[in-house]
Amino acid sequence: MEYIERVLEALKRKNPGESEFQQAAEEILTGLKPIVERHPEYEKTALLERFTEPERVIMFRVPWTDDHGNVCVNRGYRVQFNSAIGPYKGGLRFHPSVNLSVIKFLGLEQILKNSLTGLPIGGGKGGSDFDPKGKSDGEVMRFCQSFMSELYRHIGQDTDVPAGDIGVGGREIGYLFGQYKKLTGLHVGVLTGRGLSYGGSLVRTEATGYGLVYLTAKALERRGDSFEGKTVVISGSGNVAIYACEKAQSLGAKVVAMYDSNGYIYDGEGIRLDVVKQIKEKERARISEYAARVKGAVYCEGCKGIWQIPCDIALPCATQNEIDENDAAALVKNGVKYVGEGANMPTTLAGISVFQNAGVVFLPAKAANAGGVATSALEMAQSSGRMFWSFAEVDAKLKAIMENIYEQMDATAESYGCAGNYVAGANIAGFEKVAEAMMAQGIV
Ligand code: NDP
Repeated sequence: MEYIERVLEALKRKNPGESEFQQAAEEILTGLKPIVERHPEYEKTALLERFTEPERVIMFRVPWTDDHGNVCVNRGYRVQFNSAIGPYKGGLRFHPSVNLSVIKFLGLEQILKNSLTGLPIGGGKGGSDFDPKGKSDGEVMRFCQSFMSELYRHIGQDTDVPAGDIGVGGREIGYLFGQYKKLTGLHVGVLTGRGLSYGGSLVRTEATGYGLVYLTAKALERRGDSFEGKTVVISGSGNVAIYACEKAQSLGAKVVAMYDSNGYIYDGEGIRLDVVKQIKEKERARISEYAARVKGAVYCEGCKGIWQIPCDIALPCATQNEIDENDAAALVKNGVKYVGEGANMPTTLAGISVFQNAGVVFLPAKAANAGGVATSALEMAQSSGRMFWSFAEVDAKLKAIMENIYEQMDATAESYGCAGNYVAGANIAGFEKVAEAMMAQGIV
């Protein structure tokens, strides 16, 4: 049995029931085959075994009191996966589906994503099975304070710098930061995605969505094409989806559908983003409201139908495994040419094969959604330098980083004999630097 297969088999044995983690490991390790074949020293130093084993896993109790005086208990996680190239960096996810497997898959992906940005940041991820949906501000605040009362001892501006993810936006980062500062007395860049009044960076809110579109636009440009006049379907209606929609529209695309976890909206005239922002960002309400407010738009219960809508470009921006092989086949049948992953691992392994076999340009998450973490690293640079860059400055840096990521994964895929396979290109390009750093630092 080959080295990669043996590592994967052992990983599955050691991490039973962790389906998301196993899926991410399989996607990554399989894509690394060409580089592992060139480097026999990796096997001698058990590099892949070390790479897939988190440096540290922290799991903790998060007790808090709801508005009716009931004591609730959630579980908190921080997986500090790999610090070979810099301090751990990666978001916190608050969603009822969070478990150790989900956090480990996200942490493993994050290592390569962060490496691809070219910035000195290692990989980590965290979160809780707490559901902020339907909770009052007071409940969210008390939960965040309790969460940070344990987490603060494990993080720091030079060791581990969390950010937002699903269910963790500006409000949650504010409460988490306030508690960190109270406990430590330090006003430092220990969290990114902070408000502009207390150390945040311009463009951080828009960064993941904008970055996704910058990278996809580069792939289009390389093929003599652009977003102009294209029909786009975007899943989700959260942070990443909203700003992907904004940038795609500004480049002349028509976004016709979006969803939340209950159902999707279709608007053949093109989604009115001001209405979506009002509903999702301001009112924290359901996307179904859109159809009640915009004439001609329709709302359909359930998410799956969105992938039956004909489009040129699909941007899945909600959650993992949103697109399976049947959804991928429907998209291909209806003419999709580009798929850019805004969410983490939104496409199943079988779905990816369908796209690749059909010649769809498939842009994997660790490259396509790296704009968020890249801008977080720019926030860290501004914090430690006590500087504040303009919107245009940060946006230009973000665009340059995303275009560079595209060039890197394209060139890497080509140089390893798999031109156009961006899954392999992104995995190898991200892994090269991490592997070199791990080899240089000895068996640690
Ligand atoms: P948000 O919480 O802002 O939005 C998530 C959106 O996806 C909401 O519309 C939500 O619907 C929907 N959603 C969540 N879970 C499901 C589900 N199980 N089924 C259907 N819809 C679902 O999160 P973000 O926009 O920040 O994150 C979206 C994705 O992008 C995640 O995969 C995240 O890991 C990834 N990402 C985010 C980055 C960031 O900077 N924020 C950076 C890189 C990646 P509802 O409103 O009903 O909950």
